[in-house]
Amino acid sequence: MSSVLVVGTIALDSIKTPFGDKKEILGGSGVYAAVAASFFAGTELIGPIGADFPPEHLKFLASRKIGTAALQKIDGPTFRWGGYYEYDMNQAHTLETKLNVLTQFDPQIPDSLKASPYVFLANIDPELQLKVIGQLKKPKLLVADTMNFWIESKRDVLHKLIKQVDYMVMNDGEIRQFMETPNIPLAARRLIELGCKGVIVKKGEHGALLFTGSTHFAAPSYPQELLCDPTGAGDSFGGAFLGYLAKTDDIGPENIRRAVIIGSVMASFNIEDFSLERLKRLKKKEIRERYEAVRGFSKFSSLEV
Ligand code: AMP
Repeated sequence: MSSVLVVGTIALDSIKTPFGDKKEILGGSGVYAAVAASFFAGTELIGPIGADFPPEHLKFLASRKIGTAALQKIDGPTFRWGGYYEYDMNQAHTLETKLNVLTQFDPQIPDSLKASPYVFLANIDPELQLKVIGQLKKPKLLVADTMNFWIESKRDVLHKLIKQVDYMVMNDGEIRQFMETPNIPLAARRLIELGCKGVIVKKGEHGALLFTGSTHFAAPSYPQELLCDPTGAGDSFGGAFLGYLAKTDDIGPENIRRAVIIGSVMASFNIEDFSLERLKRLKKKEIRERYEAVRGFSKFSSLEV
């Protein structure tokens, strides 16, 4: 069993979906990813929090045995994100992004974590993601996520980032926007040509696609009828993907496929409730059962004609 280092945002989110309206709830790319990873492997979370960050959220992270000793406490307000979803819940609409302490965050990886084997650079300023990479000692697997906010404001930095990571995790809208084509296989090929080994394209309720230079894998989606709030689906996907790979310490192609399914399964649970509420009450047995259900959806025999 190996461990995971997650770097990302720690946020207070205000979210409106057709199923409710919540203010200042726990969120952030780093939080969703670390909580999802913690179901499988020891997890450390690094990111900035402000002086107003509620202590009960730190207690929750501790209850999941997530290491928070290297969180940076900065004098100022915590990062805040506000958004809403309409009936097409694959599309988040940002109302406001208040970077707050994120603008002062200077990631410092403690010596004890520099050799972390499995690292997830959750969605955060790509300049910060590069600063983290500069401090790492040859991770076995380095995966990064991003979003439209950074694609629009820091495209050149993202180009540098992609050269240095093993896999990128992006949703379908983001990779289309970044590679400036509506065609996802073409966008994936162009992205890999920029210098990473592969890309996982998350397609919300339609599953996920894994592209490497030479292979392609399509993960089916779970037919989810309990969709409440899609926030954090991508981050919980990424965290679980890394967490499962760290647990098994095997980055061979078969195991990467299993990890893509585990990522989809954890994302499908996360969206059943606001914030981290569903993951708070999730049991390992439920993960195993949903994994098996998803496995069944894509079994079919060869053609006999
Ligand atoms: P997702 O998995 O893409 O739904 O990520 C949702 C989380 O990303 C929310 O909890 C937000 O706090 C966080 N977030 C929103 N905007 C940004 C941003 N520009 N950079 C980093 N994290 C963000």
